[in-house]
Amino acid sequence: MNEKFRFIKSFLKDAPLPFSCPFCKRDSLVLLPETWQEHDRSKLYHSEEWFDACEHVELTYTALYKCSNSSCDQKIISSGTGGIDMDYIQAEYVEYEPEYYSYYQPKIFIPPLSFFPIPEKTPDEIKTLLELSFSIVLQSPASAVNSLRSSIERLLDIHRIPEKKLHHRIEQDVPTHTILSPYKDYLMAIKWLGNSGSHDLDQITLQDIMDVYEIMEFVLAGLYGNTQNTLQKALLINQKKGPLTRQERKSLSSQ
Ligand SMILES: [Zn+2]
Repeated sequence: MNEKFRFIKSFLKDAPLPFSCPFCKRDSLVLLPETWQEHDRSKLYHSEEWFDACEHVELTYTALYKCSNSSCDQKIISSGTGGIDMDYIQAEYVEYEPEYYSYYQPKIFIPPLSFFPIPEKTPDEIKTLLELSFSIVLQSPASAVNSLRSSIERLLDIHRIPEKKLHHRIEQDVPTHTILSPYKDYLMAIKWLGNSGSHDLDQITLQDIMDVYEIMEFVLAGLYGNTQNTLQKALLINQKKGPLTRQERKSLSSQ
């Protein structure tokens, strides 16, 4: 997740794309350099006295990424914005001299790229909401958090948690539910972040969403991934501080 976050915050043109191919799920996406096009919106002002590249250059770009897995061979289109930054490098005659470079921030990938692998057994309506969040998160983290919040509501519906305010569902009903109870704190953490997103649009940041994704990945891997039974068993045994009943064991293995 950290690698993905670093990339979306700012990347250099030749940096590898740390996302898997949405078609074949392999880490096989590479930039097609000949498709890269960029435009500097500040061009008009380059000769002005006040012009400072680091402060005023506004880049927009578009490019294609290709899956290098020959049996997949799909392409992803991406575009975004960028700017100029500077590093001081050691030089021959002066101690340090400035070196300027362009950096970029992706705003969209079509089709959207996944921030974490969604287990195959995840119910479709939760998958759809997560994929919606992946497609809008780079443009509006607050909107993405809203669809994540809805995905939690759906998860509770699917597990027949009675409908009421989300906070009460998690606080009062999740602890009494065999399957969901080990995840109460994780679900509550997502709820708090979702609240910030819906109350103040500027308050929620990409870093906050990465936290939600990380927690969500853990919850879904436990509920629908390959490790679901082992993980849930361990969490439930810890929570009960004792062995499982026949009923609890049966309900875990029937998922
Ligand atoms: Zn592929």
